[in-house]
Amino acid sequence: MALLAACATGRGPVATPSVAVAATPSAETGAPVPATTAGPASGTVLFHDSHFHLLNYIQRGPTAREFLDMTAGRVGRVAMFGIPLQQKWDYFLSGDHAPDYYLSTNADLYYYSFVDAVIAREYLSLSEEDRSRVDPMITGFNPTDMYASDHIERVLLTFPGVFAGIGEFTVHKEFVSSKVAGHAASLRNPALDRILATAAEIGLVVIFHNDVDHVRPSETPQHAAEVLDLFARHPGATIIWAHTGLGRFVAPAEGHVVWLEGWLSDPRYDHVALDISWDEVARYIVGDDASADAWANLIGRHPTRFLFGTDAVAPAAWEDYVANYTVYDPLWARLDPAVRAQLERLNYERIFDAAIPRVRAWEQTRLTGGTGG
Ligand SMILES: [Zn+2]
Ligand SMILES: [Zn+2]
Repeated sequence: MALLAACATGRGPVATPSVAVAATPSAETGAPVPATTAGPASGTVLFHDSHFHLLNYIQRGPTAREFLDMTAGRVGRVAMFGIPLQQKWDYFLSGDHAPDYYLSTNADLYYYSFVDAVIAREYLSLSEEDRSRVDPMITGFNPTDMYASDHIERVLLTFPGVFAGIGEFTVHKEFVSSKVAGHAASLRNPALDRILATAAEIGLVVIFHNDVDHVRPSETPQHAAEVLDLFARHPGATIIWAHTGLGRFVAPAEGHVVWLEGWLSDPRYDHVALDISWDEVARYIVGDDASADAWANLIGRHPTRFLFGTDAVAPAAWEDYVANYTVYDPLWARLDPAVRAQLERLNYERIFDAAIPRVRAWEQTRLTGGTGG
């Protein structure tokens, strides 16, 4: 299977998507849309994508227009963002080899704030109708910087009416944290508290990546307690914890589902939801019947707390993109249709539709000279 997940693969496509043999003209532009050989007819909405990287680690990818044409109406709404970290092409390390992924070179990653302007421009290039399907997110801040909140506010006020939230941003992540120029992000850094306090004040949705453990597992996952402490300190923030804390090499510990169940039942964490994005994570969740059963039961008991996302990065073709969804077929088959609808669409709508009017109101207050809400 072609892997296109941002967190997952070293070889995301860097070119614009291939426009295959035209099927039907897009209603919006009259432009050809890619043909597809599999899946439902165009226009049948399968899911909302709560976790989508339009751009890759070298800030390349399709335009928003090309992406929407590729989906041909089969994706309802999409939380769209770039990647805050730019992979440096360091000639002294890799010569003529131009790395496009963090595992392809030892060169540093650095925070690339211009990504937010690129995403805003992509959003603003769309028609009014298409904009209603896209929820752009701010990612271009350094979560170790006490000024990160300033960046978030500046982006909102530079591009009012555009952004719905922040993220996906990363604190602890396998092989990434140690490559970031400057010192590594940490759950203990007060800059992170400032970011979450700002998000709570403005009403921004937060998509947060933090591995629950290191690659070599500990008896108790090393970040489990700290991440829950962080969540508990910010009850006013709307947080989506990406991948439930798992990663390509951060496999679920024996008790991961039981641990999730424990705190999902605790009202101190009612403001936290989980996304099951990333095909690498799917491979754990539906890896065998016992796991798929356990996850289906967990989601069934907490149906308002899970969102589907692809974690695709700069996808070039529908078949590659939708593979992040069909990989979950064993899970879809196990879920009650009403629960599945919550996971695929309704939780996304509830969370983003609650956030967006708050963000617009905050922008309005600031731009009209108020002190902000
Ligand atoms: Zn991630
Ligand atoms: Zn991601």
